[in-house]
Amino acid sequence: MKEWVGKCQNCRKDIYCNDGFIEALVQDDHSLLCFECAESDNDKHLRTLAASPNQTSPSSSAQG
Ligand SMILES: [Zn+2]
Repeated sequence: MKEWVGKCQNCRKDIYCNDGFIEALVQDDHSLLCFECAESDNDKHLRTLAASPNQTSPSSSAQG
């Protein structure tokens, strides 16, 4: 059984619940974050931790 539970707070993708398993992470404020966004968010944190002051960023990313 598939039931719509909400949208990803980041990419606004529809999130469904499959037999009790929600296809997203439910955060402390009860907002939903799809796994893709959750992974990229973790990746961002790791990159921030690994960032070295000597590195130059080739391009600036747009903030959405
Ligand atoms: Zn998302």
